[in-house]
Order: sequence, then structure tokens, then C-alpha cells
Amino acid sequence: MDERAFFTESPTTKPATLNCPFCRTQDTYELRWLVRKKKDRLPPGADERDRAKFQKAQSYMLLLDDKASCKNIRCRKTFEVSGVKTVAFL
Ligand SMILES: [Zn+2]
Repeated sequence: MDERAFFTESPTTKPATLNCPFCRTQDTYELRWLVRKKKDRLPPGADERDRAKFQKAQSYMLLLDDKASCKNIRCRKTFEVSGVKTVAFL
């Protein structure tokens, strides 16, 4: 069974403070995340191995954005998101 069957997926956004590497301006950016919330119960059709995996599974979020556009109007460059964890357990 695919592990995705254990989770309910939903998108969300969370603010993160980022520094543009070009102009060094710090600002807050709304980054997009995919929330994978563990289901309350084991999906139907799961076998013993799935049951063990399901017990160990935890709800988590995956960072979807790997780039941000600088908010400084004199810069506006696209830079890579860094310093943000790409996976966060809930
Ligand atoms: Zn910039």
C-alpha cells in the first residue's frame, strides 16, 4: 500500500523570513506547503505490514516553494529559498 493512502493532503501557506541574496533585504514571504495529515484510522485493505508502517507514520508538511521573488521593488529578483526546513513534522 502506498504511504500516501495514510494521509489526507491539503495545501497551506506559512510566513517565513527570508533574505534576498542580491539586495540583502529581509522580508516575510508566504511559502506554500503541502500538509500530509495522518488519517484517524488505517485505510481499508491494509495488511500487517501496512499496519506497522501506519503506526510509525506521523503527520508532516512538505515545502513546495523552492524559490521566492524579492519584494524589494528595486530588485525583484528570484532567489532560492534557503534556511527553511523542507519537511516539518506536525
Ligand atoms: Zn532582492
